[in-house]
Amino acid sequence: MSWDFETEPEFQEQLDWMRDLVREEIWPLESIWHELGLDGLMRALAPLQEQVKERGLWAAHLPPELGGQGMGQVRLGLMHEILGTSPIAPLAFGNAAPDSGNSEILAMAGTEEQKERWLHPLLAGDLRSAFSMTEPHTPGSDPTQLATRAEREGDGWIIQGRKWFSSNASIADFLIVMAVTNPEARPSQRASMFIVPTDTPGVEILRDVPTMEHPAEQFGSYGGHAEIAYEGVRVGEEALLGAEGEGFILAQHRLVPGRIHHCMRWLGVARRAFDMMCERATYRHAHGSVLAQKQSVQNWVADSAAEMQAARLMTLHAAWTMDTQGASAARTQVALIKFYGAKVLHDVVDRALQVHGSLGYSTDLPLEQMYRFARAARIYDGPDEVHRQSVARHILAGYEPPADGVPSEHLPTRRAQARERFAELLEAVTAND
Ligand SMILES: Cc1cc2nc3c(=O)[nH]c(=O)nc-3n(C[C@H](O)[C@H](O)[C@H](O)COP(=O)(O)OP(=O)(O)OC[C@H]3O[C@@H](n4cnc5c(N)ncnc54)[C@H](O)[C@@H]3O)c2cc1C
Repeated sequence: MSWDFETEPEFQEQLDWMRDLVREEIWPLESIWHELGLDGLMRALAPLQEQVKERGLWAAHLPPELGGQGMGQVRLGLMHEILGTSPIAPLAFGNAAPDSGNSEILAMAGTEEQKERWLHPLLAGDLRSAFSMTEPHTPGSDPTQLATRAEREGDGWIIQGRKWFSSNASIADFLIVMAVTNPEARPSQRASMFIVPTDTPGVEILRDVPTMEHPAEQFGSYGGHAEIAYEGVRVGEEALLGAEGEGFILAQHRLVPGRIHHCMRWLGVARRAFDMMCERATYRHAHGSVLAQKQSVQNWVADSAAEMQAARLMTLHAAWTMDTQGASAARTQVALIKFYGAKVLHDVVDRALQVHGSLGYSTDLPLEQMYRFARAARIYDGPDEVHRQSVARHILAGYEPPADGVPSEHLPTRRAQARERFAELLEAVTAND
């Protein structure tokens, strides 16, 4: 029987190295990276990227033949827990979203020419990408209703539609666009993916939508979420990524492991907020004692520790299932951790913010930023309700109504059955009375 919670020593050494690098070299950059701008930040990260490459940890999400490590989801998850503590750490490791997911799709479905032209420069950090699927006027949670069309014309395609929340599109060199190619096909086979360079005529990047995370109007910065009009965008046959009608299948391949990585990154953020909460509790004195001695605060510390541990074990278990049995076996577990992990992140950050009072609400601490980040986690990659629905459906499919309409655990019915079954014993016992 194998039931083991240990990390092998060689990989633990790598994790320790990553933790030190992120804390000592990357956390200090966080408070000035907006001043540095993206180019300045990349210059600061360049020597760290070299160290990451030397350690064999660059683009670790990809298979070995593409310069990745083929580590499997459990190890990747443990790595993401460390990188997730900082919004800029993934850039130093060649696995920042959305480039990481896009590189996975290109690696999986791209032709040799597509890999040469888009994947290799993406991995080298010479190009940036975005994933353009969600639309303002159709529900992202039900992508079978996508309205953006790609129609064949001559030896290519014409794309027409509007997208929004395409993260990083305003700084991207190319977009992976999901468009309906056959509205008559079965819903899961209606859409296809296209690689569209951002400078293609007809691609109009209208704005970066201001959000809770970036409330001020801005354009062209890392982490923006662009609204894009595709007005008669003409692309060649070579733009089609994967086979026609394969869009949703490819998106699923990208999303399942991506959600494990999200959940582990959220745990990294939650842990950082938790540490802040515990530190504050040790010295803030109010009403005759430090906060650490108030029962509410103790409850928050204990509940947060329990919930983070539960989310961590659930996520690593989903990762292990994916490694040992494949993505489809892990699907329900991944849906479970997506909404549970987002809630744990939200609740831990909320409690840490509350313990800091007005300081927590202020921008003097990163908690308010974490709080806004946590809110988004309940929406992207599928809103909570959709994941809950799919988990519940899967579970309920294992149940049937009782044949006679009486609940299986109905005590009077069970008692009557037991009396019948154990009649002799009951009689013997009562006769002795
Ligand atoms: C920070 C951030 C980054 C993003 N990045 C990208 C990106 O790079 N590329 C991209 O294409 N998209 C991106 N998105 C978009 C994201 O994927 C969508 O917002 C998400 O899929 C939900 O779609 P929607 O916003 O259209 O909401 P809708 O589909 O309109 O859903 C709205 C609400 O309806 C409810 N709901 C929906 N279905 C059900 C149900 N079955 N049962 C009960 N309630 C339900 C839920 O409460 C849900 O929140 C990003 C979003 C955010 C917030």
